Amino acid sequence: MKEEVGGYMDNLKLAYCNECEDLVEYDVHDEIINEEFKGIKISYKFSVGRCKYCNCEVATDIDYNSRKSKAKIEAYKRKMGLITLKEISEILEKYDIGKEILADIAGFGKVTIKRYYDGVIPSREYSDILLKILCEEDYFMGFVEENKEKLREVAYRKIVSRYEKLAEISSSKVEQIANYIITHLGEVTPLALEKLLAFSNGVNYALNGEQLIWEESQAWAHGPVYPQIYNKYKRYGYKPIDDGIYSTHGCMLSKLTEKEINAIDMVINTFGLYSPKTLEKISHSQKPWIEKRYGYKEDEAGREVIDENSIRLFYEENNLNSEENIMRYIMNCIKKTQCV
Ligand SMILES: [Zn+2]
Repeated sequence: MKEEVGGYMDNLKLAYCNECEDLVEYDVHDEIINEEFKGIKISYKFSVGRCKYCNCEVATDIDYNSRKSKAKIEAYKRKMGLITLKEISEILEKYDIGKEILADIAGFGKVTIKRYYDGVIPSREYSDILLKILCEEDYFMGFVEENKEKLREVAYRKIVSRYEKLAEISSSKVEQIANYIITHLGEVTPLALEKLLAFSNGVNYALNGEQLIWEESQAWAHGPVYPQIYNKYKRYGYKPIDDGIYSTHGCMLSKLTEKEINAIDMVINTFGLYSPKTLEKISHSQKPWIEKRYGYKEDEAGREVIDENSIRLFYEENNLNSEENIMRYIMNCIKKTQCV
């Protein structure tokens, strides 16, 4: 092996191989690791580094071993039905609180949650409490009220307003769909969101044969709009909406079935890849919107309610029931609008 120095070595990505007793080049591949941990057979995916010369495992960077040990502990917790770090992170994000505050609220010692992040495995009792907090907002608020004196006034008020926001989302299906799209796409402007909601409603007809969103969709100048959602987010203007609450547990998806989430995912993975302008063009090429714009000038405001039956027919006729079909449909729309 040639010896290299400094930055050049970093570029080459070398690691120490115990077998070769030298710095070696390596490859990284995702592998499924099966092993025993605390007497339990576990299996987990990990990006394993392997020496290019002898194929032995090598630590590719300074965090390699701790990352691997965390992946192993997470797999163990999943297998045992204990709360994982991913789920604890979801609690922190959902209620917008820090680790110490969560520990206070749950009545644990102050550093308990931090220790879980260092690799400590939660007891069954604490794990069950945390899992219930993740899934049940009212249970969480019960704890908050119980341990209120441990919280600062500001922190308490912040939690209450977050809870109210969660309650708002939990009470409305269309809000849940909007929040799901916002948190799963990352960058969504109010106008793009409106199109994606309309496409989701349409794709759900083609995929599941049912109406997804029960609010009326109106034919505005810039495409179909659900006024309630539009008004909620219009303050973002042409900027991406950034106040979504990511959570896959509890109230956030309570009004959606798995089939419906599939339809929304399909829209996110296809239409979701395109710019707001392109989405607008696509929506302007769809019959259900066009037929409610007769007599209106291009930029003229309109509030005509789009016909659900017309949406159903349009999406069924165009077979917009798989990612492949939708992508083909989008490409055709783009081609057509470029020719005009
Ligand atoms: Zn080697």
